[in-house]
Amino acid sequence: MGSSSAPLPPVEMFFFPFVGGGHQIPMVDIARVFAAHGASSTILAAPSSAPVFQRSIDGDQKSGRTIRVHTFQLHEDAVSLDTDTSAAPSTDTSALLEPLRELLIERKPNCIVVDSFHRWSAEVIDATGVLRIVFNGNGCFSRCSFEMLDAHKPHEGLDSEYEPFVIPGLPHKIEMTRSQLPHFHKAPPDGGNQPSGHRRGRPNNNHFGVVVNSFYDLEPQYVDCFRNVMGNRAWLVGPVSLFNRNVEDKAVRGKASSVDEQTCLDWLDAKGPGSVLYVSFGSLARLSSRQLHELAHGLEASGQNFVWVIGKVSGSEGNGEISADGDWLPDGFEERMGETEQGLLIRGWAPQLLILEHPSVGGFMTHCGWNSTLEGVSSGLPMVTFPISAEQFFNEKFIVDVLGIGVKSGSVEWSSWSWRNEVIEPVGREKVEAAVRKLMGGGVEAEEMRRKAKEVKEMARRAINQGGTSYADADSLIRELQNRNGD
Ligand code: UDP
Repeated sequence: MGSSSAPLPPVEMFFFPFVGGGHQIPMVDIARVFAAHGASSTILAAPSSAPVFQRSIDGDQKSGRTIRVHTFQLHEDAVSLDTDTSAAPSTDTSALLEPLRELLIERKPNCIVVDSFHRWSAEVIDATGVLRIVFNGNGCFSRCSFEMLDAHKPHEGLDSEYEPFVIPGLPHKIEMTRSQLPHFHKAPPDGGNQPSGHRRGRPNNNHFGVVVNSFYDLEPQYVDCFRNVMGNRAWLVGPVSLFNRNVEDKAVRGKASSVDEQTCLDWLDAKGPGSVLYVSFGSLARLSSRQLHELAHGLEASGQNFVWVIGKVSGSEGNGEISADGDWLPDGFEERMGETEQGLLIRGWAPQLLILEHPSVGGFMTHCGWNSTLEGVSSGLPMVTFPISAEQFFNEKFIVDVLGIGVKSGSVEWSSWSWRNEVIEPVGREKVEAAVRKLMGGGVEAEEMRRKAKEVKEMARRAINQGGTSYADADSLIRELQNRNGD
């Protein structure tokens, strides 16, 4: 990919990702996209993240693109900003405040694209006069849904957590229950204010605009709503995962894989086209051991091949990663899966893009994180939806009710990503089995989902290539920054 117009004076763009896979991974890809469009991209990193970011851009640097990592020098007693800390989404990154201020004053970039979870950063950036562009990791559908909930409050005054209500003001009929809403979105029982740490950030004031990892044709009515009704200047430059075109890019994305890539690809090569379900719940969610048991039984009973990334478990120590010796899986499950070759279990981190794009993979059981949703869409896969936290229940509605490419698992209980513990009733094995059979079993409905998913995949590819909307949006932001440069 390269810029479509004549050589332009360089535009200096900074990118300031938050901690956690779902935020860092797309931001790094966005920085790479802009570098490919001719900008000079600098990714700002705490020391703990810098090596991972550097690995992701090695190839771009070798091919002559102007992209680098700037590592903040932190005092030894600064908070850990590691992706794997047990409290990633609420991590306080304000230790970076002074280093950021100094850097912006010294370098005066044309803009900084900043993750909205750095809640302290707007004031600091605005005081330096550097243009602030916000990234929050979500798509337009969920943002419009939240906006309409805030405006109309259809979820208030209901008798039960499970009584369905329709979100007013949306182009599709979207039905939800209170149980699926983030806790910080429900009125507190005493009518008082919730602690500010739990409030959904609205850092949209005074910023120059918003960069979104999505593409126009995926959610046209919601993009229009986000721009015209909610009043956002938005550049949609995704799906940015598609920018990872070769095996090396895909393999080094995020963290080092816990499984040898070749082992994984060999396992998939031995299966028939479209016959494998890929199961993953993203980089943060912790499932209870009860839920893991139900999933294991359901997957096994479905008779379908699967690759299951068993990431984190609630109740385990440290960063939540599942250990080999815990009682996380049914007796003999792992051995049986090895013998029958029905399932490949990956403990830890999987090369998700490599797996999703393998021809043997025919479906994706996902927690509906926005990146995973887009990656599923970009790979042309129908999905079993299993939302857990954040805005994932909205993404589920989008996949199932708007795109028509998903089967719900039956997960209806929102929980904080860190405590999907024993309190929450797990989705039972029968539901898991039924959803998997419906998606992978080859019925008429599933075939229709498969057809639609392939259509969306083609749209995604068109969007990021020359002549596509995402390509044009990336160019247009650079041009705009350039013009301001010349003022
Ligand atoms: N991911 C991965 N391997 C894993 C787990 C996650 O590569 O084993 C990547 C995945 O491809 C996606 C990101 O991590 O890009 C997860 O982001 P998402 O928004 O789906 O979920 P979150 O982790 O924020 O809940």
